Amino acid sequence: MKLTVIGTGYVGLVSGVCFTLNGNHVVCVDKDEEKIAKLNQMESPIYEPGIEALIEMNLREGRLAFSSDLGESVRRSDIVILAVGTPSLPSGEANLEYIENAAAEVGQAMDGYKIIMTKSTVPVGTNEKIRQIIAANTPHPFDIVSAPEFLREGSAIRDTLHPDRIIIGIDNPKVEPVMRELHQGFTDKIVVTDIRSAEMIKYASNAFLATKISFINEIANICEKVGADVTEVAEGMGLDKRIGSSFLQAGIGYGGSCFPKDTKALIQIAGNVDYEFKLLKSVVEVNTDQRFMILDKLHESIGSLAGAMVGVWGLAFKPNTDDVRESPAREIVEALVKEGAIVKVFDPIAADNFRKQYDHPQIRWCTLPEEAAEGSDAVTLLTDWSVFKDIDLAKMASTMRRPILIDGRNLYTKAQIEGTGLEYHSVGRPSLG
Ligand code: NAD
Repeated sequence: MKLTVIGTGYVGLVSGVCFTLNGNHVVCVDKDEEKIAKLNQMESPIYEPGIEALIEMNLREGRLAFSSDLGESVRRSDIVILAVGTPSLPSGEANLEYIENAAAEVGQAMDGYKIIMTKSTVPVGTNEKIRQIIAANTPHPFDIVSAPEFLREGSAIRDTLHPDRIIIGIDNPKVEPVMRELHQGFTDKIVVTDIRSAEMIKYASNAFLATKISFINEIANICEKVGADVTEVAEGMGLDKRIGSSFLQAGIGYGGSCFPKDTKALIQIAGNVDYEFKLLKSVVEVNTDQRFMILDKLHESIGSLAGAMVGVWGLAFKPNTDDVRESPAREIVEALVKEGAIVKVFDPIAADNFRKQYDHPQIRWCTLPEEAAEGSDAVTLLTDWSVFKDIDLAKMASTMRRPILIDGRNLYTKAQIEGTGLEYHSVGRPSLG
């Protein structure tokens, strides 16, 4: 089949590339011409493991193209996939400006029947709005599909090719076989629903995962006070199949471009129908507070931060991505700067993106993790990049002004810390040293 993917970001680029792998021809469209120019040079505008090799292979073999001409691509396609951003408005509601504009452009370009499939995360009822916008811009027939995306940055290719499930929200049964063919080879677990339920599945899934994270973080906070170890608690809980072990890692909380905005959007979706989603409001509040635990631990260990030198390991909201949107590191670094600390930061991939959003004369940009530790009064680990596992902690401790490590992701075991000379504080576990 011939596909156009509109929006060549983390979702659109990966989806577009992966749909070439089961025999489709794909044009990825973006209005950002710089992105398209880079992609045509076989250079990915985002960091995602494995993406550049697939871009190169599929461009060379003629199954993949990049363009900023939405109209031409739409006219040549059977299926048009909407994968533009739906960021938060200050109210917490999803900003639908990009998706509505894209829908209007698709309508204006259409010259015959198309299937329009929404991968962007959109509030319940948005696909109906998309239908109205397209219908107002074209006399041609079309069908709408809500196919929310569940990929995770950092493992996006694997997640797309081997998803736990694919959700297809439709209102015309004739579209179902086309959707099955489109996803052929990815998984047999295709759940076909009505459009509103598909839209809700995405928000409910992200809200539930965020709830698991905030839940285990609160358990961790209690563990610290009662002398229990949250990693052992989580392991014991997770073996219960009704609970499951994933998303029970205590830490400084979730960030990224999805959980923060989708939880807030769901609170608004509920609020718009006069329902107060009390549980989810607490999940968000717990998450907002959790990151400042790093500051509390710093104060307990070194007192005032004015004039202190603090190393920061990790700026991305999670490892294996360059995405710093809503990363807890942002507020932590800002707070450190505000309290007068000199902040020595290191991230293996995301430092440039972070620096574009926030820079300050008190920040020292380091090219090695050891450099961020040297001379510091404490090091704080904010992203669990695997590179931090390989550091010689004893050697590092000997270069610090005060050998204090605050591990916001519980990356290290007791055995790795013992004998290093470090004073070690983590989340929901007994301190060491
Ligand atoms: P992104 O910001 O990385 O990319 C969006 C792209 O759309 C940008 O490159 C932008 O230039 C382009 N764009 C906007 N309007 C356009 C138009 N009219 N024509 C052409 N291009 C246009 O966004 P993302 O992270 O890929 O997220 C896209 C959607 O997928 C969001 O709704 C998000 O919630 C959802 N989602 C994201 C993830 C994730 O991990 N990033 C996972 C699941 C779902």
